[in-house]
Amino acid sequence: MGGSPTALNYLNGEWIGSGPTAESVNPADGSVLGRYVPGSKALADQAAAIARETFERTAWAASPRLRAAVLYELADRLEAAKEELADLIVAENGKLRREALGEMMGSISETRYYAGLARTVLGRTLETAPGNFSMMNREPAGVAAIIVPWNAPVTLLIRSLGPALAAGCTVVIKPAPQTPLIHHRVMQCLHACPSLPKGVVNSVNENGIEVGAALVASDDIDVISFTGSSRTGKRIMAGAAPNLKRLSLELGGKAPAVVFDDADLDQACRELTNGALMMAGQICIAAARFLVQKSIEKEFTDRIRAAFSAVRVGPGRDPESGMGSLIDHDNRTRICRLIEQAGDEGELVLKGGVPDGPLSRGAFVTPSLFRIDDLHSELVQEELFGPIVSIETFEDELEAVTKANATKYGLAASVFSLDINRVMRVSRAIRAGTVWLNCHSRLFAEGETGGYRHSGLGRLHGVEGLNDFLETKHVYLEAGAV
Ligand code: NAD
Repeated sequence: MGGSPTALNYLNGEWIGSGPTAESVNPADGSVLGRYVPGSKALADQAAAIARETFERTAWAASPRLRAAVLYELADRLEAAKEELADLIVAENGKLRREALGEMMGSISETRYYAGLARTVLGRTLETAPGNFSMMNREPAGVAAIIVPWNAPVTLLIRSLGPALAAGCTVVIKPAPQTPLIHHRVMQCLHACPSLPKGVVNSVNENGIEVGAALVASDDIDVISFTGSSRTGKRIMAGAAPNLKRLSLELGGKAPAVVFDDADLDQACRELTNGALMMAGQICIAAARFLVQKSIEKEFTDRIRAAFSAVRVGPGRDPESGMGSLIDHDNRTRICRLIEQAGDEGELVLKGGVPDGPLSRGAFVTPSLFRIDDLHSELVQEELFGPIVSIETFEDELEAVTKANATKYGLAASVFSLDINRVMRVSRAIRAGTVWLNCHSRLFAEGETGGYRHSGLGRLHGVEGLNDFLETKHVYLEAGAV
C-alpha cells in the first residue's frame, strides 16, 4: 500500500474514500501506521442496497462454479500476500509474527475449503408416493452483513465470508476500527480476483457504531454474521428483532481447562501456557480458568507459574518474543486494574504488569495468575480478555463439571487426564461448543465452532458453517402416477 496507507471503503467494485480520516496505531509502540476513511449510515445503506440489487439481479446466487472460482482466486491472492499481510497483522494488532502467519495459513486453508463446498451445496429429495416428489432445496439466504472484531481480523472475516460466498449470498462487511489497514489489504486481494462480479462484496469502515447499527437495522440485509462480545451480540439481536433477521452470533467465552490428578502435567502446562497466552489472552477460546484437582494443586501451580514466568513479552516482530502486546493502552489500563482486583479478591500467584524500559511505551502487560475460590466473583464469571488466568480447585469429577459449567458462557473448554473414559465422560457433561481433550486451542476449517448459552448462536467452520447463509425451500411436485 506504499508509505502511509489509507484504508478506503469498497462499494460495487470501487474504492470510495473522501472526507475526514481516522488513525490506525501500532499498539506495540504507539506509532501511526496509516489512516482510514470511516463510513456513515448513508454509505452503509448504499452498500446494502448494492448487495441486494446484485443478489436479485445477477446470476451470482445461481452460479456455484463461479463462486468456487472466486474463492480459489481469493485463496491464491491471500497466499501470495501472506508474508506482507502477516507483517501488517503484527504491526496493527500487536500479536506475534508466528501467530499472524498462522492466521494467514488458516484463512487460506478455510477459503479453499469453502471453495470446494460451494460446488456441493446439497438438498434432499424423497418420493412420498409414486410420482409425488418432495424436494428440499438449499438456497442462498440473501444479503449477509459480516461484522468483524479486531483480534483475528483475517480469520474471523474469512470464516464468515467463505461460507457466505459459497452459499451464494452477497455481502456487506464492517471491519473493526482497530484493524482497518489489515482489512483493506484483504479487500485488495478480493478486488484482484478476476471472476468476482462487482457488488457481490462491499465493505464500509467505521469508528463508532453508526455503520454496524445501520446494517443491523437495514431491510436490505437478511443475515447478520457477527463475531464479537456477548454484550454487543445481545444489542445486535435486539436491533435485528424488528425485521427478524437471521443471526449468526459468535460471542465471548470463558474457557475452563479441567486438569485431573492423572494428567500428564508437562503436556497440560505446555498446552495451557499457549492456550491462555496466545494473542496475549485476547482470543475468545483462551484458557481463562484453570480448574485443578485439589491433590495436585501445589505441583500444578508451581509448574504453571514457572511456565508463565518464562514467557518473554515483547514486540510481535521479534522472534524471541513469546507473547505480543494488547490491542491498545485502554486495554492495558483495564488489565492492570483487573490484576489489582485479583489481588484483593483472591491471591496473586504471579503478579503481572507493565514491563519496564522501552516496552512500557507499548500496550504490553506480563502474565498474571491468581488463586480464587469464589465462583460468584466477576473475575471468574466475566471474560477478562487478556493474560490473566484464575486457578480454582475441585475434589472430584462432579465438582469439576459443576464448576466448569458455572459461568454463563459456553464457547470452549479442555480436559486433561490420561483416562480416556473420563475425558470422554467429562466432554459430554461440559456445556460448550468445543471441548479439547489433552490439548487446547485447535481450530481448523473442517471442525465446527460456536457457542452454547451466552457464547452465541449458530456454527461457523465446517459443513454446518454454510447453514447460517442458506434457506431450505420445500418444492413439492405431484407428477401423477408413474
Ligand atoms: P465488540 O463486540 O466490541 O466489537 C465487535 C465488532 O462489532 C466491531 O466491529 C465493532 O465495531 C462492532 N460493534 C460494536 N458495537 C456495535 C453495535 N452496537 N452494532 C453493530 N456493531 C457493533 O468486540 P471486540 O472487542 O472487537 O472483540 C472482542 C470480543 O469478541 C470478545 O468478547 C471475544 O470473545 C469475541 N470474539 C468471539 C469469537 C468467537 O468465535 N466466539 C471470536 C473472536 C472474538
